[in-house]
Amino acid sequence: MEVWIHSQVRATFKANPDFRRMIGRSRLDEIERKDLEAYKIFKFRKLLAHVQENSIYYKKVLKDAGVGPGDVKTFDDLQKVPLTEPAEVAKEPFYFLCVSQGKVMRAYTTSGTSGLKKRIFFTKDDILRIIDSISAALRTVGMTKDDTLQIMFPTIASWDPGYMLDGACKIAGLRSVIADMLDVDEQIRVMKEHGTTMMIGLTSFIYRVTVLAREKHDLRSFGMKAIILSAEPLPESMRKEIEDAWGCKALSQYGLTEMGLATTIECHIQDGLHVNDADFLVEVIDPETGEHVSEREPGEIVLTSINYQATPLVRYRTYDLSCFINPPCACGFKTVGKVGKIQGRLDMMTKVGMGEKVYPLLFDEAVLSVSGVVNYQTVIEREGYKDRLRFRVEHLGDKKDAKARIERALVDVAEIKAGIDNDLLESPVVEMLDPGSLEFVPKTQSILDNRRLYG
Ligand SMILES: [Zn+2]
Repeated sequence: MEVWIHSQVRATFKANPDFRRMIGRSRLDEIERKDLEAYKIFKFRKLLAHVQENSIYYKKVLKDAGVGPGDVKTFDDLQKVPLTEPAEVAKEPFYFLCVSQGKVMRAYTTSGTSGLKKRIFFTKDDILRIIDSISAALRTVGMTKDDTLQIMFPTIASWDPGYMLDGACKIAGLRSVIADMLDVDEQIRVMKEHGTTMMIGLTSFIYRVTVLAREKHDLRSFGMKAIILSAEPLPESMRKEIEDAWGCKALSQYGLTEMGLATTIECHIQDGLHVNDADFLVEVIDPETGEHVSEREPGEIVLTSINYQATPLVRYRTYDLSCFINPPCACGFKTVGKVGKIQGRLDMMTKVGMGEKVYPLLFDEAVLSVSGVVNYQTVIEREGYKDRLRFRVEHLGDKKDAKARIERALVDVAEIKAGIDNDLLESPVVEMLDPGSLEFVPKTQSILDNRRLYG
């Protein structure tokens, strides 16, 4: 991936005298982090000029803010440019379109995790870039022509990147097979038939397949090389179960359909996800003030797609919480930046008890740390003046023992403990169910608020 990113920087260096002037060098033998940073600012400025000229939305926003490409010279200067809200893209997709409709090759409608339907357009060049970057990312995690990638995004998920991934593999000469069925036996059958050596899919779905399949099969005998867990965050307890079951690394991947998917991928060091620095400019901001935060400090990820022609997005709010990590990385990458694992989503937060903020991932470490848990759902109820959390847990094995362990782990979660201590939250209720009792829902949508709200 680093080699691929450097090749993109070199191509830009060759084609643009402005970029050569900007970094003040006539040759680019070795690429350092500062060159990559300069490349991103250069690309950002070019992008601002492009959207100012061609997007109805950005033309107005940049005029109102009184900023243009010339005002952005450093990373700090990015803060002068207004953020883009996903709701704006959902409202008027054509205000963001920067090319004539004849040049649009593909259009994707995404609902994403926030439920807003957004229509995003890609030109042929945009699609080719995405395909190229996906294959670079797959090679980063060790995929070769001898491997077969099983693509496991159940059709029930709101996010359907399977076909894009499959296309990327085919064009790059890599083997892949789409397996989007919920049935676990079918998934295993496809693995055996195609000699699958790598998997990519929805995190909670691959976890479910793992927990259910390991009862019947020796999963280590499949010789899996790596498993890429996508579209949902990956709690460490879940990672450990998956790695133990298959005997290989489980790596996290994070991207948005709006950004063409191939945004970041984790390396085998498992300390953050490498950013595709050739195509994206990542910032992490304090969501309250909008200002940049320091390295490894938590904040909201803001993304700019610096290379797309059709629907490039400038300083796009993801509402995902993480942090930024500077290179180098122990995997050998010297210049490529990273983001930390995704910790949660800002707009998925709900308040309980005294105002303790809860979000779907908060309970993952507590519930999933207990072996045999397949999936769970969190329900918020109100009992008199108190809130109560109910956990509906699908489990395989000794339910009585698991129930007691989950209950103990839950009362240790700081947010629950504070609520109980202040007498505003009832003790959590844990309900044990057989696998398959709950409808499969992607993890990020799993808090059900059943409180009757007054006023
Ligand atoms: Zn690395």
